[in-house]
Amino acid sequence: NKQVIFKNYVVGKVNDSDLEIRTSQLRLELPEDGTNDVLVKNLYLSPDPYMRSRMKEDYTSYVPPFTPGKPIDGYGVSKVVLSKNPAFKEGDYVTSFTRWEEYSVIPGGNGLKVIDTSESVPLSYYVGCLGMPGFTAYVGLYEILKPKQGETIYVSAASGAVGQLVGQLAKLAGLYVVGSAGSQQKIDLLKEKLGYDVAFNYKQETDYNAALKKYCPKGIDMYFENVGGKMLEAVLDNMNKFGRIAVCGLISQYEKENSDGIHNLSRLISARITMRGFLQADHANLQPEFLQKMLGYLKEKKFVYIEDIDEGLESAVGAFVKLLSGGNVGKQILKVATD
Ligand code: NDP
Repeated sequence: NKQVIFKNYVVGKVNDSDLEIRTSQLRLELPEDGTNDVLVKNLYLSPDPYMRSRMKEDYTSYVPPFTPGKPIDGYGVSKVVLSKNPAFKEGDYVTSFTRWEEYSVIPGGNGLKVIDTSESVPLSYYVGCLGMPGFTAYVGLYEILKPKQGETIYVSAASGAVGQLVGQLAKLAGLYVVGSAGSQQKIDLLKEKLGYDVAFNYKQETDYNAALKKYCPKGIDMYFENVGGKMLEAVLDNMNKFGRIAVCGLISQYEKENSDGIHNLSRLISARITMRGFLQADHANLQPEFLQKMLGYLKEKKFVYIEDIDEGLESAVGAFVKLLSGGNVGKQILKVATD
């Protein structure tokens, strides 16, 4: 059983040597003593930015830091191989929170949910647009920002797993949609495939304040914050009165020991801005309506979903490092096995 092992807590940039692939003996059986345990074969694993925070020793959130010497874990799509749990049978496809390895025992079947395969959508979508990143976009846009037709929304990391959906859902809600991303390829995608009205490359237009003035001529009513740092500072200067900011993530800060200071928070007062952090996990009650609505939109081809799929558990480390350095184009996926 190949596994991705966390070597030690990371300070600064993650690199290839912080994770390693180890092979252990595999026995396709369930432990004698475990009740309701399920053995799954992992098909798709989901490298996600929050996993970088779990590499810090002092990380405190709703999931614990990784343990040195043990496999890392995260969202996945798996297939049931053996089950002592009446809720799951051999051959079921499930969404899971699973270790990064080929086969996993899920104690008590905890966290597994059966996927309705009659919907015939790609299984990997269940860690993307129909999974945690999709749900994040949904919660952030509808619950936190509460868009009104005709408003301007600005989205950073706009072509990523979350951002590409925020833009398309915002367009469906009748907004003027502005995005930024880190390469020309991503900018083209935003404008040509992902419904963004305009988009700019923040690595080329480095005067963010000037760029936002140019691309948001009517100012910003809503900011879907994925990056933080200097971008947030420039956004604050360009927010309209009574604007809203949904703080989803601050990826530009995750690998910094000293976060960039924000020097213009007084804008929150002068422009009466509401800025609210959120965690998708707090809104689990919205999961059923999310899935129903997004499946409907998918069938009606109201949105597209771009994935960047790397294959094989050996590619795990590279895929994770790539995600954090902006090398992914669309949702980063790790395909571990074909069925
Ligand atoms: P993405 O698919 O967007 O991948 C990460 C992207 O971030 C990279 O491709 C890169 O795109 C961009 N990026 C990396 N470093 C920097 C940097 N220094 N400055 C600016 N951009 C950078 O990831 P997700 O869509 O999965 O996640 C987006 C954000 O949402 C993250 O901050 C994440 O932590 C957060 N999140 C929050 C959740 C919540 O519940 N609050 C749940 C899920 C995600 P580019 O080339 O454009 O720079």
